[in-house]
Amino acid sequence: MTLELPIYLDYQATTPLDQRVLDAMMPYLTRDFGNPHSTEHSFGWKADAAVEIARKQVADLVGAQKSEIIFTSGATESNNMAIKGVAFAHHPSKNHIVTIKSEHECVLACMRSLEKSGFKVTYLDIDQNGLIDLEQLSAAITDRTSLVSVMAVNNEIGIIQDLKAIGEICLKKSVVFHTDAAQGAGKIPLDVDRMNIDVMSISGHKMYGPKGIGALYVRKDTAIIPLFDGGGQEQGLRSGTLSPALCAGLGKACEIALLEMEKDDIHIAALSTRFLDKINIGLNHVKLNGGIEDRYRGNLNLTFEDVKSDLLVADLKDIAVSTGSACSSASAKSSYVLKELGLSEKDISSSIRIGFGRMTTKEEIDEAVNHIIKVVQNLI
Ligand SMILES: *Cc1c(COP(=O)(O)O)cnc(C)c1O
Repeated sequence: MTLELPIYLDYQATTPLDQRVLDAMMPYLTRDFGNPHSTEHSFGWKADAAVEIARKQVADLVGAQKSEIIFTSGATESNNMAIKGVAFAHHPSKNHIVTIKSEHECVLACMRSLEKSGFKVTYLDIDQNGLIDLEQLSAAITDRTSLVSVMAVNNEIGIIQDLKAIGEICLKKSVVFHTDAAQGAGKIPLDVDRMNIDVMSISGHKMYGPKGIGALYVRKDTAIIPLFDGGGQEQGLRSGTLSPALCAGLGKACEIALLEMEKDDIHIAALSTRFLDKINIGLNHVKLNGGIEDRYRGNLNLTFEDVKSDLLVADLKDIAVSTGSACSSASAKSSYVLKELGLSEKDISSSIRIGFGRMTTKEEIDEAVNHIIKVVQNLI
């Protein structure tokens, strides 16, 4: 069997679309093109029925009620709505928010924007494993705090925060708990009730669904205001015409993820072990960034001592990997997440992220490892 090149190992930037997802979307891109908000004829009813089935599929993935799911354009929008929507709904009596230093760029950008509007934000440290200290979290919450926002799975290093413990603290202190679950939904078990999550952001294209769609889970009776005004769709929280095709795609992606999470997990853990074993046999001085436990196994952020990662990535022509997050790569800054982990500037500039998932094969992993070993040996 010949391998198809290039090999895609950048699953945190985006995932391939599952063929079953595309199949679920097609009717709404072609024959059933109606506007789901048209209530006067069957074109609208059909489109609306598709949206509502999808809403139930998204809700089921995270243990939510169907009425608590709002469709958005993706996790960036969901995060903006969650953070600003909850912050302003509690303003001015509560003006303080707690988050963590390793959040996704869009969450940190929301925080900076709120700071400009007069809010106070506490940014919690992460330890060398990538985890926050729960006592520090607890101590940071005051009676002026409205919101705690802590991501589920980190996009650069794959570390999973202890959402259940964080949720318990937030419940006890009566603050809203939001989690950016863009890298977690469909990959690790998430349950909004068991984890006391009040608001959760989901992205379609990080879980084998289409780009341009996401969801926001909002627990019933959570105080939140919409970001924009319009026709009042999505319970007044997100005006604008929904795309039934994109909704159906996200719904199908959630349905598949729920059914196949264990199977995906076993597959990905095996690939991860295989990759690490082989790379450590072939090369000395490769370091995994973040703890080995509490990790989504499809994300391996590695430091190749004394090798410049930009040269490594450039020389790995047929292997698509990245030096960090796709989201802030336009600015060519070095990774703030690795910095918070305690890496030196030198080690940060020697690190790459390898991401794989449902569609990755053993053969691709083997080929990629061989290639990386060869290129690294040339660069040392
Ligand atoms: C990709 C990503 C986002 C942004 O999601 P989009 O749907 O692309 O807007 C937000 N947070 C995390 C952790 C991500 O990985």
